[in-house]
Amino acid sequence: MRALTIGRYQPFHKGHMNVIWEISDVVDEIVIGIGSAQISHELDNPFTAGERVAMIRRTLELNGFKGMSYIIPIEDIQRNSIWTSHLESMTPPFDIVYSNNPLVVRLCKEEGYEVRHPPLFKRDEYSGTEIRRRMIEDERWTHLVPEGTLEVIDEVDGVQRLKDIVREED
Ligand code: ATP
Ligand code: MG
Repeated sequence: MRALTIGRYQPFHKGHMNVIWEISDVVDEIVIGIGSAQISHELDNPFTAGERVAMIRRTLELNGFKGMSYIIPIEDIQRNSIWTSHLESMTPPFDIVYSNNPLVVRLCKEEGYEVRHPPLFKRDEYSGTEIRRRMIEDERWTHLVPEGTLEVIDEVDGVQRLKDIVREED
């Protein structure tokens, strides 16, 4: 069985990683969709699709992920009624969807998919919004992302990028 999960992964964090590990206990293959793929260099979406692919790929590898995974950027479209077709056009066929996003859940259910809700891990800390806030405010955040993701953020000077974006928006 092949499952789809989707997030923006700005950045990929340990909550996301836990979800992927839990799903892979249940299914044979996992499709990881990177949402809002076309957006980067913005306060809520600092990283490019390619950088997010690298975060996830390296994290899976460094942590010895055993399952089969496909990491696929998915651009937004402005028409929710055909979003699942758009999604399906970019991914291998999947049988089941893991999501807590109300719109994703609704659209996938309407299309006939079984939707499961992955449990949230330490949501107060394992949160993209919280991690970006900490990066900007020079608070401790590195323990909230997996090692492979940390490497990619360092490589692209991600924290400085975020701080520059904040300054430019002032
Ligand atoms: P942001 O604050 O930027 O929205 P986020 O932490 O909510 O980031 P997203 O990139 O929006 O993460 O991805 C959303 C998906 O990730 C959802 O399906 C959600 O269930 C899952 N997710 C987010 N945080 C956690 C967490 N702490 N534990 C488990 N799953 C999580
Ligand atoms: Mg979110």
